Amino acid sequence: MPVLEADIAVLRGRIIEGFSMPFPVDTFYETVFMPGFSDTHMHPQVVDGGLEPGRAWRNSYEWLNTRQLHVDEAKVRGDIGLSSRLAELAMYRALLEGTTLVAFTGRLEANLKAKLRAAVSPRLVLLPTVMRKEGWSTPTDLRKTIERYKNYVQDSLLRLGVFVHSLAYSSDKMLVDSIRLTKQLRGPIGIHLSEGVSEKQQFSARALPHARGVRIVAVHCLNDSFNDLGLRCSSCPATNALLYRRLRGSLDGVTSFGSDWPHLVGTTGGLIPAIIKAYSPDLGGVLYRATVGGYEDYGMSWRGDIVGYDGSLEDVLRGKIMPSMVSVAGNIVVSEGEIVGLGLTHRDVVRETVETIRYAVDMYGDGTMPRIPSREEIVRTIVESSLNPILLPRKA
Ligand SMILES: [Zn+2]
Repeated sequence: MPVLEADIAVLRGRIIEGFSMPFPVDTFYETVFMPGFSDTHMHPQVVDGGLEPGRAWRNSYEWLNTRQLHVDEAKVRGDIGLSSRLAELAMYRALLEGTTLVAFTGRLEANLKAKLRAAVSPRLVLLPTVMRKEGWSTPTDLRKTIERYKNYVQDSLLRLGVFVHSLAYSSDKMLVDSIRLTKQLRGPIGIHLSEGVSEKQQFSARALPHARGVRIVAVHCLNDSFNDLGLRCSSCPATNALLYRRLRGSLDGVTSFGSDWPHLVGTTGGLIPAIIKAYSPDLGGVLYRATVGGYEDYGMSWRGDIVGYDGSLEDVLRGKIMPSMVSVAGNIVVSEGEIVGLGLTHRDVVRETVETIRYAVDMYGDGTMPRIPSREEIVRTIVESSLNPILLPRKA
């Protein structure tokens, strides 16, 4: 029987030496990850973070209300061709960075369309956003959309749930309706929580009593720990650092990582060197959360999700090499560092992403390209932010 062999494997986040498993063809990689990286929070339609050099916001609400965007977000989201192309590029970038599971918020039609037309895709959690704001869906709108596309969401590699934007942008009725819809879908629910401001009490009062038995993924959870309430927590170190110049002081209560803005900062697989620098004493804890942690957040299988590198684990963790091979559910989707069937490299996808953002600026913007931080800036900002930690009580 043919086998895949590796010198080093990161298996469910644990590092082991000498690895072998049945595989369709005899193959050897210096390093393999099984499963690959998980990215549990992404806005695939975001092309502009409103980033300004040196500017830091106190919390997400201040950012939402005072940021200066160069591109009209609602118009990007409303352009189904553009917004689905952006989601497709986010999927390719994820795979090329070894990220085998992604969770998309944003517009359901666009993200589904991307999944249908993409040559290959990671495991996908679709959490369409509901928000009390002009141009966004309510749970009722979402219910209609899901009904319309219900045949397309029956896919073993896909899970459908709901993303409630935030407590401040939801009425009590929206919260309850969203939780009810999530229960009917038997899916997970995600929500931005405690992103620079404590929201634990409010969440406990307004949402928790309705959500018994529902899988809840809190995103950011910078100022509170929610694990005692049974919530999972997707931490987004890159955007926390870029927006607030602060990080959580420890990973207690964090169950996975999200990139938030894949087009501007990359995905978990690409961010791993920076995350390790920020939380360096706990390498095993980072690797667990960055890989299988996200699968556990959303109750997804990781069978057949493998990433192979022609280089040492040290080089992977320093960001010096990219995956040679990626398989999702046993199907090879990246081979020799290229998307199978398209021949796209990481460099190609990043270039196409920048061109697509330029198109968005031309169509729906003020003519100025949004700031896209360099890799060095992202690493430096994450490391600097880790020196300004938010410390939470160990037992919250
Ligand atoms: Zn977000």
